[in-house]
Amino acid sequence: MSIRQQCGDAPGTVWFVGAGPGDPDLITIKGRDLIANAGAILFAGSLVSGTALRWAPDGCVIADSKEMTLEQMSAWLILQATEHRVVVRLQTGDPGLYGALIEVIQPLDVAGVPVRVVPGVSSAMASAAAAVESLTLPEVTQTVIFTRVEGRTPMPPGESLEELASHHTTICIFLSITLMGRVTRALLAAGWSADAPIVVVHKASWPDQEKIIRGTISTIQGLCRDQHVASQAMIIASPTLGARQWTSLIKSKLYDASFTHRFRRAVVAHAPLLSAKKSESV
Ligand code: SAH
Repeated sequence: MSIRQQCGDAPGTVWFVGAGPGDPDLITIKGRDLIANAGAILFAGSLVSGTALRWAPDGCVIADSKEMTLEQMSAWLILQATEHRVVVRLQTGDPGLYGALIEVIQPLDVAGVPVRVVPGVSSAMASAAAAVESLTLPEVTQTVIFTRVEGRTPMPPGESLEELASHHTTICIFLSITLMGRVTRALLAAGWSADAPIVVVHKASWPDQEKIIRGTISTIQGLCRDQHVASQAMIIASPTLGARQWTSLIKSKLYDASFTHRFRRAVVAHAPLLSAKKSESV
């Protein structure tokens, strides 16, 4: 369905669109089409690459939310929705992660303004991609935690990094690069080794600006300081890091030749009479 059909004629749907992590090519096609049809766009200038705005049509009203409060953002979006059929709130990464989505939407709901959300590529995924790391590996970890450490925003009970890290899963830590000391102390307190690898990705996917810093729990803070990385960085701690160089890897059952699943029968070269393992889920 085209954007025009989805919006109808009634004035103003506000679309919260994930702009992706920085590379303008990493916005979804739907997000790009919404920008191209927008009457007004509110973008997070401090985080979203301005290049995404190149698809905006002539005459589109464009504002930067950098210096606005939440109330001012909602008020701006409500006002624009009275005048334009497509209003876009462009957010970094995915709008559902650390994006104040609900706080901005609630006043729109009260005002009766229709709202839709278009997902985006989160910086957590872009950082893993930049470093060519897999956040899950069979029999290493099958769980990813997205979190942050406590800064001015308090963490709810049970969600301190030390508690979360005690599971020894992959942890993608947002909004915490200036609190690296706190991050490493929490990992050590949770029983991670001082030699455990850590990857920090600064401006993942931003053309010419991306930095990938590899270290260990004991070295990463100094390495980030040396490279002047103090903002827009993802910290990834994971028992999967560096697996590309491992010589022994437990491989995924999905592609195991001896494994039958919904889309492929097992190939059993030397023992054709052996019955293959069957599984729906892998
Ligand atoms: N909604 C966003 C997160 C916004 S919070 C998302 O899904 O990615 C802002 C934090 O995201 C930053 O402090 C940083 O930790 C991370 N971040 C955003 N863009 C980034 C990028 N290009 N590279 C690395 N980290 C990034």
